[in-house]
Amino acid sequence: MRFLLDVLLGREARQRGYVLRTLLAAFGYLLGVLIAEVAVSIGVADLGPARVFQGAALTAGLISYAMVRWGWTRSFRDPAMTMTQMLVGQTLAVVAYVLLHEFRGALIGLSVAVASFGTFSLTRGRQWAMSLYALLTMGAGMLWMSVRDPMNFPPEVEAVYFLALLILQFMAALLGAQFGEMRRRLRSRKRELEVALERIQELANRDSLTGLYNRRYAQELIDHHVHLKDRNGRPLAMALIDLDHFKQVNDQYGHAVGDRVLQTFAQQARQATRDADIVARWGGEEFLIVMPETSADGAALLVERLREALSAVAVSDAVPALRIAFSAGITAHRAGEHTDQTVHRADEALYEAKSAGRNRSVVA
Ligand code: GH3
Ligand code: MG
Ligand code: MG
Repeated sequence: MRFLLDVLLGREARQRGYVLRTLLAAFGYLLGVLIAEVAVSIGVADLGPARVFQGAALTAGLISYAMVRWGWTRSFRDPAMTMTQMLVGQTLAVVAYVLLHEFRGALIGLSVAVASFGTFSLTRGRQWAMSLYALLTMGAGMLWMSVRDPMNFPPEVEAVYFLALLILQFMAALLGAQFGEMRRRLRSRKRELEVALERIQELANRDSLTGLYNRRYAQELIDHHVHLKDRNGRPLAMALIDLDHFKQVNDQYGHAVGDRVLQTFAQQARQATRDADIVARWGGEEFLIVMPETSADGAALLVERLREALSAVAVSDAVPALRIAFSAGITAHRAGEHTDQTVHRADEALYEAKSAGRNRSVVA
């Protein structure tokens, strides 16, 4: 059963929806062909025109199925070709209506069934336009036949059929338009949710003061990079950085200046690093920079560049002379060790840098 469906509809989920719809339309054509066959066999319809109609309907069904099933319509704006299929379907319904005399009542049902396909993808305007097209073409057929062949198409009967068609097409278009509106609202709601989710993820991963990655997310990223490093064998360096005498900044100039200092450090650190590097706020005034494909010595160079850049930056307008200094512990990840061990080694190196007088780096 599953195999049969795969063959009939294809495997790709979205494509299957289009194929299924096309197949439904093809069944509509088939129904028209069957009705024509019965009409011919009991002598209601003329053989020649009926055969032409049957040929056209079968061809339309087969071609549209083949085109959608084998993905030739994939690049179309509407891969199910809804509008085209509806136009062909409505037109064939009118032809059948004219040809099939007593059976024409069934074609009104089919015409409305064709209209219902629009609910899947047509805009409201097109939906109404399709119903209008059905009404006008079928109405013209009715009028024409009631003038040309009033014996078989009595005007009173045609008038009743037309009224029925008018009401049913109106209902189909109205419901279709409402359904389409619902579809559009759902789609825009979905997009809003996606944007909100992205924003929430962003918020959850970043520190609000500095905009850097927070510790939790940085940990995830580091684990990922260690995993990569284990496979490609390239070095992976880390620098744990702690601002020097930061408590004094807070105490002397206030918490707001302290916050500016943290933001300035973050900005400079981002500028000094590459896109592939991870810069995270590890704790209060402690930062971790992870540098993929970089040795400990390479990392030390980068950290010194950052130190130099920072020493030239005025942090606060209120205190123009204030400069930031930091101590750093630098190390490279060693094969097989857990990331906690690497960070711990960097932390010990940082402690050494502090004990040795601050404003310096120690490579471990
Ligand atoms: P050391 O050179 O030994 O690192 O001295 P320190 O003063 O930098 O270190 P200490 O750990 O004594 O002080 C860190 C201070 O950082 C204490 C805390 O109030 C401050 N701090 C932590 N987070 C923030 C923050 O988000 N904003 C501000 N303004 N201060 C913060
Ligand atoms: Mg600290
Ligand atoms: Mg400190």
